[in-house]
Amino acid sequence: MNRRNRSWSFVAVFLTLASHVWLEQLSPWLYPALALSFLLWPQLAYLRARQSENSMHSEINNLVIDSVIFGLWIAGLGFPVWITFILAISTTINLMVFRGPPGVLHALGGLVAGIVFGGLYAGFRFLPDIHWFTTVLAVTSISLYLLLVGYVSFSRNQVLYHAREQQRLTERELKQQIEENRQLQEKLQDQANRDPLTGLYNRRYLDDSLQREISRCLRQGDPLSLVLIDLDHFKAVNDDHGHNAGDLVISQLALALTTLSRASDIVCRFGGEEFLVVLPGTGLEAAEARAEEYRRVFEGTPVPVDNASLSVTLSAGVACSYREIAPDELIRYADQALYQAKETGRNRVVSQAPLTDEPQMA
Ligand code: GH3
Ligand code: MG
Ligand code: MG
Repeated sequence: MNRRNRSWSFVAVFLTLASHVWLEQLSPWLYPALALSFLLWPQLAYLRARQSENSMHSEINNLVIDSVIFGLWIAGLGFPVWITFILAISTTINLMVFRGPPGVLHALGGLVAGIVFGGLYAGFRFLPDIHWFTTVLAVTSISLYLLLVGYVSFSRNQVLYHAREQQRLTERELKQQIEENRQLQEKLQDQANRDPLTGLYNRRYLDDSLQREISRCLRQGDPLSLVLIDLDHFKAVNDDHGHNAGDLVISQLALALTTLSRASDIVCRFGGEEFLVVLPGTGLEAAEARAEEYRRVFEGTPVPVDNASLSVTLSAGVACSYREIAPDELIRYADQALYQAKETGRNRVVSQAPLTDEPQMA
């Protein structure tokens, strides 16, 4: 109940009761008492609620005081029928709005207290009749009051509806932002794991994933192979054709490795012109065949540089393990194989014996 609603509904009650006093020719002293109850009290009630630290609590107290005042007037005037009805029902509705069903008990308590005091002061009389004009005023007042309650309820629903809409909008925006952040984070994470020139995984990603892949394969009873690749005489490519041409060759090899590998393989740029392919679930023979395919396809795909086409070859070392092994150790085996490939003439694939738990194979 805001100040304006209370003030206007009390003015209506004031007019109704004043008409009763006038038409029933009751004591003129009742007019100032009516003014005090229905014109001054709403303003005092407002000030009281505003100054209070807990204005809601204070307003509920005001509503109980309203019902006591209403009780006083009901008994004081001898229970005039329509006046009794509008006073009792309006204070009950008010407290119901603020307190729910317990508010009805508060209202009844206040009314009974007011009736008892009023009766004790003015004597208990029963004068239910009221003039038809006062009846019209009373019915009009309660109708306007009920319309006001309906309007306030409508306004609150509107505010609530808009607040919910706003909240829904904010939630949607928030979800969208979270999704964008997630995508951005994924993108950044992916960028951090990739080599900018070739788009292949970098050494950092290899370090994170090789141990995991080895353990996974071992758990499933599968082998894991590595193919370590190094371009042959690559310094000469740079020296003869420039660094950009060298980069082009590196990119071409990256493309070939990606194309010839499975989705489950991990193709990394291991160093400058060295590449490492992790082949989970692949035994030595299949890994050798794959390395040979890399070598053959790359050799057969000259790189166009300026007006010439550049044929570059690669050497590869293959290592395969059927047992738990440290990533660095397995890479070292592949490196030894690669070294032998270089030593024995380049443009070839050399494999290490597969590493198993059986001593003769290790
Ligand atoms: P080998 O057959 O023994 O491997 O001879 P090589 O000349 O290839 O020798 P090595 O593998 O040691 O050469 C590495 C060269 O690769 C040296 C360096 O200039 C070049 N290199 C490394 N990273 C890059 C790169 O990102 N771009 C270019 N263009 N060249 C690179
Ligand atoms: Mg090298
Ligand atoms: Mg090299």
